[in-house]
Order: sequence, then C-alpha cells, then structure tokens
Amino acid sequence: MANTANPVGRLFEDICTMAAKEIGIVNLGRGFPDFSPPQHVLDALVQVTQSSNPLLHQYTRSFGHVRLVQALCKLYSPYYNQHLDPYQNILIPVGAYGALVCAIDSTVQEGDEVIIFEPFFDAYKKMINDIGATPVFIPLAPRTTESSPTSHSDDWTFDEQFLLSKIRANTKAILLNSPSNPLGKVFNQRELEIIRDICIEFDLICISDEVYEWMMFNFKKHIKIATMEGMWERTLTIGSAGKTFSATGWKLGWVIGPEPLIKKCQVIFQKCYYRCPTPIQEAVAIAIETEMTRLESEDCYLKSLARDLENKRDYLASLLAEIGLKPILPGGGYFLVADVFDFHKQIKDSELEKHSSKDEADDVRFVKWAIKEKKFGAIPVSVFYSDENKRRQHLIRLCFAKQLSTLEKAGTILKHW
Ligand code: PMP
Repeated sequence: MANTANPVGRLFEDICTMAAKEIGIVNLGRGFPDFSPPQHVLDALVQVTQSSNPLLHQYTRSFGHVRLVQALCKLYSPYYNQHLDPYQNILIPVGAYGALVCAIDSTVQEGDEVIIFEPFFDAYKKMINDIGATPVFIPLAPRTTESSPTSHSDDWTFDEQFLLSKIRANTKAILLNSPSNPLGKVFNQRELEIIRDICIEFDLICISDEVYEWMMFNFKKHIKIATMEGMWERTLTIGSAGKTFSATGWKLGWVIGPEPLIKKCQVIFQKCYYRCPTPIQEAVAIAIETEMTRLESEDCYLKSLARDLENKRDYLASLLAEIGLKPILPGGGYFLVADVFDFHKQIKDSELEKHSSKDEADDVRFVKWAIKEKKFGAIPVSVFYSDENKRRQHLIRLCFAKQLSTLEKAGTILKHW
C-alpha cells in the first residue's frame, strides 16, 4: 500500500464508497458531507451559470478571480488584524489540496525536513516525499493513559523537548493542521506559542492548514498562527471553499500569506493549474459576500455549520459511548476518532480472517470486518500514522458531517452491534 499513487486514507475512503454502492453500508468513512450546501450557495452558482455575462464562462485572472480575492480580502482582513491585499496576499488554487501543493513545493526542497504532527492528514506525507524531502513526525498523544468512556482531543498534545530535538539544520518548515484531520485536535494558545517560538528561533516556514477553521465546538476560538507576533512573514495559511460551504466537490481553496511567499506559490500554481474555473470562483465570491452581510446573525452559515456539527458530534459520541466504543471528542472539524480496542478483542480470529490477513494492522482488520459484517464504514486511524509509529492500531475515524438520518442509521447498527 505504501507505494501507491494515492495516500492510503483515500484508498480506504474508496473501499467504503464501493461497499456503500455494492452492499449498502452506512458510510461514515468518506470525509465529506452527505447534505447539500446552503441554498444561497446553490443559488449563487445557478445565478452565475444563467448570467448573460459571457465573461463568467471564460478564463479569469490567473491567481484568483477578482471578485473572489476581493471578497476573501474583506472577509479575512479583520481576522488577520491587517488589511490583506487581494492581489498580493491571496492565491486561489484547486482546493486546499492544490493550495498545500503550492505551499509545500514552493518552500521546501529536496533534502529538507518538514515537521508534521501525527496522526496527520495522509496527503502531507506523500506531498513531502514526492519532492525528495523528509517528513519528521511529532506524536500527539493523550496526556493521561487512563482509560475513560469519553475523552477529548484537547488531551492530546506534543512534547516540546521532543519537538525541539527534531529540529536540524535542514528543517525547513512546520506543517500545522488545526482543527486537525483525523483527531479534531485544536491547538491551544500555549501549543501555538511553542510552535511560533521554534519557527522564529530556527527560521522555519509555517504552513498552516486551517480548512476546518469555521467548525469550532464548545465556543472555542480559532487562533490563526499567522496573527501571532513574528509569524505573518513566515506563514502560509490554507483554506477551503469546499469545507467552508459544505461543497467539497467545488474544489476551490486559498493560500493567504505575505507577498514574497505568495509569489513563490504562484510560480508552482502556474506550472500545475494556471487558473481555476471562473463560474465556481464567482459563485464562491457571491456566497462569501452574502455571509458577510450577516456575520453577526444566527443564520450566518460560517457559524451555524459549527452548531449543527457540534450537535451531530455529540449525538454520534453518545451512541458510541453507550455501547462502549470510546469516543475522543474533537474540538473542531468533521471527524471523531473512537477507540475500538475492547470491541476488536471480542471478535474471533476466524471471523477476522474472512476479510483480512494477520499481517494487517488491527484497526484495518476491524474496519474490513465492520464493513462486511456490520455494514458500517469507517477509516482505520493507522493510515494517518507514519510507518514507524503505527502503534495506535485500535482507533477508527468517523465523519459526522452527515445528515441526521445517516447518523440515525449508524445508531441502529451500533445499538445492535
Ligand atoms: N486539508 C485537510 C486537513 C483535509 O482534511 C482536506 C480534505 N480532506 C484537505 C486539506 C483538502 O481540501 P480540499 O477538498 O479543499 O482540497
């Protein structure tokens, strides 16, 4: 699996999707909403496609459609405590994925090392390896080893001394993801200060993947590391229209940062993509403009989505806890990780062997079994670990960005587990 073109998590998502089609599983494996984007976002796209303005169907500005970079500039400037320049501080690539490629390829070179906190979004490792650089993994681990029915991703942190010990002359960047995939870990002020101090002391770039920035739970505030003293000039912040508006198929992302770093990203962008689709950019611009008229209102999607997801997180967590599948409550994002150790122990080897072989990780075996025997799709968390650290082999990732009816179906399966 390690040498395939796809990050391993994608392969598992594909297995779940096939199983959903073939045997009708309840699929909490795939990491995207099964509900529609908000109506005003759909209306915006209809408005654009029906527009009599022919230019909306032709090539637009390469580094980002003007209306969109202006809208992003207006939306984000207050969050960065400075006036962003729409033409110099923002780049619009194909999804946050494309934004990550631009950020990594433009700042990291063959032979460099990049710090990643694990478990990590599996694409990072591949993106770094592909340019001949080396990912260096810093484990996030629970502060306490006590087993409790429900724990919180806040308890998962890193060891400052260990992080420091991994900084070498060829360390180039720290790749941060908050809220994170898969754990839903929200890095707190203190943790971000440690990362900031290290970036400054060792002159590192910070690539901050904040695609889940609007999905913060329990009144937590999202902190942009780029706004911390000394960080703006060394940070590239990544966002996603797909995550922001529950329209992941629209594949539009952004990189925000200082002009010299954005210029470097532009070089990579032009080589790979050249420009993104005009109608999608125009529609996202209209959607952002609409949200900006109601930022303080209950209806603002940038806030209501978080409330909706928090309720769904709690619903799924209580279902899991009821039957003893220990949930780790995420502080933000789409995903909840659950500990299946006690469950896995109860399944007979002969049962597991029907669907997997002994040399596969326990969580992989559990998921393959659950897909076939329980019609329940999840992602084994070991795919989000480096080969050397696949030690947490009894965690699964579940996506709760789903319709309530999907979660209820999952509940029915779980209750009869
Ligand atoms: N970063 C993280 C942490 C993600 O989870 C994802 C999507 N799963 C992406 C980036 C890619 O986002 P997009 O769909 O906008 O390319």
